[in-house]
Amino acid sequence: MGLCPAQLISRYMALIVQKFGGTSVGDAERIGAVADHVARTREAGNEVVVVVSAMGKFTDGLIRLADEVSPTRPPRELDMLLTAGERISMALVSMALGARGVEAASFTGSQAGIITNTDHTRAKILAMHPDRIREALDAGFVPVVAGFQGVSTEKDITTLGRGGSDVTAVALAAALHADVCEIYTDVTGVFSADPRVVSRARRLAKVSFDEMMEIAATGGRVLMLRSVEFARRHGVPLHVRSSFTWEPGTWIVEEDPTMEEAVVSAITDDKSEAKVTVGGVPDRPGIAAKLFRRLADRGVNVDMIVQNTGANGLTDISFTVAKTDLVAASETCNIVKDEIGAAEVTTDDNIGRVSIVGAGMKSSPGVTALMFETLYENGINIEMISTSSIRISCVLRADKVGDAVRALHTAFGLDADEF
Ligand code: ADP
Ligand code: ASP
Ligand code: MG
Repeated sequence: MGLCPAQLISRYMALIVQKFGGTSVGDAERIGAVADHVARTREAGNEVVVVVSAMGKFTDGLIRLADEVSPTRPPRELDMLLTAGERISMALVSMALGARGVEAASFTGSQAGIITNTDHTRAKILAMHPDRIREALDAGFVPVVAGFQGVSTEKDITTLGRGGSDVTAVALAAALHADVCEIYTDVTGVFSADPRVVSRARRLAKVSFDEMMEIAATGGRVLMLRSVEFARRHGVPLHVRSSFTWEPGTWIVEEDPTMEEAVVSAITDDKSEAKVTVGGVPDRPGIAAKLFRRLADRGVNVDMIVQNTGANGLTDISFTVAKTDLVAASETCNIVKDEIGAAEVTTDDNIGRVSIVGAGMKSSPGVTALMFETLYENGINIEMISTSSIRISCVLRADKVGDAVRALHTAFGLDADEF
């Protein structure tokens, strides 16, 4: 007897990677709710691989403890410490599944075959060998994998950078050829702005990979940037959704060339960076090259750069870096300052950045003008500007960021009641 198409579809077994962030596994009750959802997904006929973050703010607590015992926080030991958070969650989720009659087994990143380079605290994935995960699936188990961690080519335990469980989930989805990677979090999807900053932000049903990369790179921490890059490269369908309401959320998709793009889709804010200025720099070729080479060699990622017009053969170079890299950046600049005969190095960690992101802005004149006018009308001074073809960012005083995001959200017609 043949099967009708509906039966064929319902019998099709999809492989779904489900990643649960910190708040989603924040306490025993939340872990129970997660296990119930995984059990439901299985009952619907799917295979499931679970990836978990550390419970609640556990990682932050471990970092504070490390700070209390060591001023230098040796990166190898820090990684060993931080991976403990995800181990706790994976074992508890696995037990909760067992208690519901779902056979489950937990795996560390190393056991899951996630091989990284040796760059502790921000390791990059070099290879995936998820043989044990595949075997567990074939044996009818739900593998529960600790997010955010791997093992290096030197056989040391590494972490993938803050928010790195998203990368674990996408990398596993790619390696296992999963049908979808679902990122469960404490909001119902990707919004037109951080809903904690803009109460009238609205959920976006779809976001293009290009836009999501800009949103993630400029403060929208709902997805870690590297996970979005990885998903695009490997064609992994990404679905960001809530572990509180379980309703459908936001799909991250390739742009549809037949559709008109929104001029501005999202406004982001970011207070995680600081500004460094090297003043009185000789205005001649090779100076910037030397400065930024040294910063790169020290492992400092530089974001926005501004060089002022020179006067009397001297100029100023300002750039932004993650606050966590500020000490390294300022030490490096002070060494280079003496070598190149610059006057001074100053730092400022009281800055914030607002950005507007939209795939349609490349064909819409007037977007920059409206952004600057809106900031001006709200008495907000712009200190630095940078752009890509689908983003404009402005650096402001940190205490102006919230007002700036809300004003821009209204000015670009994104407020929820506009729709
Ligand atoms: P998880 O622990 O689940 O990984 P995160 O805290 O990393 O969660 O990311 C979810 C948070 O991202 C939300 O609580 C929200 O405040 C923040 N966020 C920032 N920008 C956005 C945005 N544009 N859309 C949705 N959430 C956003
Ligand atoms: N627990 C890690 C962090 O807080 C990784 C993650 O949650 O994705 O950064
Ligand atoms: Mg996260």
